[in-house]
Amino acid sequence: MKLKLLFSFTILTFVFTTVNAQNLIRCASTEYQQQQVNLNPGLQQIFDQEDLTTAAFVANHQDGFTPQVICTIPVVFHVLYSSSAQNISNTRLTDQIAVLNKDFRKLNTDANLIPSVWQSIAADCEIQFCLAQRDPNGIATTGIERIQTSTTAWGLNSDMKFASSGGANAWNRSKYLNIWVCNLSGGILGFAMSPGGPASTDGVVISYQYVGVVGASAPFNKGRTATHEIGHWLNMDHIWGDDGNACTGSDFVNDTPNQAGENYGCPSFPHTDNCTPAAPGVMTMNYMDYTDDACMYMFTSGQKTRMWATLNGTRSSIKTSNGCTPSTVGISEELMQNMFSINPTPTDGAFTLNFGSGSTANFDVSIYNILGEVIFQQHYSALNENELHLNLDGNTAGIYLIEVRTTNGRTVKKIILN
Ligand SMILES: [Zn+2]
Repeated sequence: MKLKLLFSFTILTFVFTTVNAQNLIRCASTEYQQQQVNLNPGLQQIFDQEDLTTAAFVANHQDGFTPQVICTIPVVFHVLYSSSAQNISNTRLTDQIAVLNKDFRKLNTDANLIPSVWQSIAADCEIQFCLAQRDPNGIATTGIERIQTSTTAWGLNSDMKFASSGGANAWNRSKYLNIWVCNLSGGILGFAMSPGGPASTDGVVISYQYVGVVGASAPFNKGRTATHEIGHWLNMDHIWGDDGNACTGSDFVNDTPNQAGENYGCPSFPHTDNCTPAAPGVMTMNYMDYTDDACMYMFTSGQKTRMWATLNGTRSSIKTSNGCTPSTVGISEELMQNMFSINPTPTDGAFTLNFGSGSTANFDVSIYNILGEVIFQQHYSALNENELHLNLDGNTAGIYLIEVRTTNGRTVKKIILN
């Protein structure tokens, strides 16, 4: 979001407007970044430059932007917990990734609710996410870091981002999107750092109650807090332009209607306000508004262009990150020897995984190319024999990684295709 100092009084007033009787704050990104600028006034100039660069990219792509390659962003969750409730399950986190992969690809099932007048501008942003498969040292990881802490609740500051203050240090932001999951005080759902901020505080913070789907707290239990905050991380503004209730501010996106202030709850369509008083009104179902999770389900083509300005600019290095590529370093050699063998390698195409006397029930097989892209994925509930026959026919020659995942862990082995 833009830091509009002119409106700072208004911002402070409305950011803390409550979203319901529990005094929840839908998003504290504007306030957080204002605070960071106050601590480091030089940041304002960096954010301003970021916006100029973005505006130039948008001006050069007025008909929209289509990337040649979908961007896959490696994510690391830093889960900070002082109670078992705060130490949310792996399922909550993998569900969250699944939500992001739907929302940023317009694969969300509620996209069918988008009003017909906006269906043509609703965007597949061509951005997807993976749980990091290797850490900054190249060691195999689940992409989930769990840290027990004596801090029961975290304030609106950067303490959770530093081990020295009881939190977790950021992983290299040129390769990872850092998401801190912790108990935010004051009813704050989440906040983000826009591109251009310091590396040590770059990323998104989400209070644990609002991560994932099953087990998350209604009405913010469809994973859209992360969708919204990652929108900020990719330099998107609030859809109403952070101008209080005026009509003068802008989100610098051409295809979103001018909007007075934020919307809460679940407005019925069409919803008009004093900036767009005629139907179809304002776009309350946009992820960058403040509506309930079930009532936001689209980004626009203009917002996609803005995100890709960042992915072709300040955050371009994330496009070539190997964070999604599985690593064999750090995996138990004994486990690797025992779990399965591959025959033959090199192969001309067909090959066999032999599980020996090991269990052949309830496991997943994934095959990755050297870019870390999944080229095959299958769940097996049971095999009739201790072998699994697979084939790489039709793929380019080179190295592939075969991953077998069970509830006990995962094993990755290489195979060479001639
Ligand atoms: Zn926000």
